[in-house]
Amino acid sequence: MNIEYPARERLANLPTPLQPLERISDHFSMPYGGPKIWIKRDDLTESAMSGNKLRKLEFIIAEARARGCNTLITCGGEQSNHCRATALAAAKCGLKAHLILRQGAGARDGAAVPDGNLLVDYLAGAEVSLYPLREYIDQLPSLFEYWSGIYEKQGDRALCIPTGGSDGLGIWGYIQGAQELLEDCQRAGFTPDQLICASGSGGTQAGLILGSQIFAEGVQVTGYAVCDSAEYFVNKIREDVEDWARRYQQPHRLEIQQIQVIDDYIGPGYAIATEEIYQTIALAAQLEGILLDPVYTGKAFHGMLQDIKAGRYADCENLVFVHTGGQFGVFPQRSGFRSSWADAE
Ligand SMILES: *Cc1c(COP(=O)(O)O)cnc(C)c1O
Repeated sequence: MNIEYPARERLANLPTPLQPLERISDHFSMPYGGPKIWIKRDDLTESAMSGNKLRKLEFIIAEARARGCNTLITCGGEQSNHCRATALAAAKCGLKAHLILRQGAGARDGAAVPDGNLLVDYLAGAEVSLYPLREYIDQLPSLFEYWSGIYEKQGDRALCIPTGGSDGLGIWGYIQGAQELLEDCQRAGFTPDQLICASGSGGTQAGLILGSQIFAEGVQVTGYAVCDSAEYFVNKIREDVEDWARRYQQPHRLEIQQIQVIDDYIGPGYAIATEEIYQTIALAAQLEGILLDPVYTGKAFHGMLQDIKAGRYADCENLVFVHTGGQFGVFPQRSGFRSSWADAE
């Protein structure tokens, strides 16, 4: 099937590589009768702008230009990859970026350490407004209104981008990403049984599900939640797809049973990892030279390996894990990794 994409600002280096994970498959999957594991390297969409958000931003920035906006306002956690990618992409396109950031629980007012993604936000010249957790959660819509009002008054025009760039516009990124990935698989000579990703705001999974429905008659997509419940994601993904169908007059719909989300590996909470996660990250680095992150990809990859051992993917031959980036999130959690390189076996 074919589909007409809206305007797109080319920012990512595409296609990203699809690679087999030979040693991890040999150690952790095949001995359990599990599938061969492949990895789609969307951590290589760019260097500083790396990760899944850049695919969404290609469509979002084209929309901003079409609407005559010169400013992007978005939001996220203090270590948001989405905000960092937005700050850099805005800089590259000659736009302003304003980031509404949520401080971690327990952080004191204005005490955010400029490390990891936040450091890059400042380097990219983004305006950063940090809010305590409670205020952020209670007032996010009015914070967007407040800041876009300020820009309007100065004669600027702002596009407000929701959390993670996930809505009917942003999901184009992974409709196109799914098309690319399915072509990669075809070239490598196999049809994937499942596509696996981390789900944080749902847009990546929504796009992958839609794309695999449009281009491959429904390869199963499984999302590993890194926050919120499976039920939350099922609703969020349906809403984003409905928004997309309405905005672009698309006939495609999703059934609830097509939206597979596993919420067993969130651990203590969003962006809080456990010893096992740090060890899985060290292991992937040691066996494959791949850097996962403790907020998203490390948790999803760990969950996938546990579920392979438990037989969940026993009838699959080829799984594709989408590496959505996040490497700047490793560094602020440096203390968690302390014991990992000693006992990663
Ligand atoms: C945002 C993000 C995700 C989750 O993608 P969503 O579209 O928000 O669900 C996964 N991995 C990384 C590294 C991310 O930054």
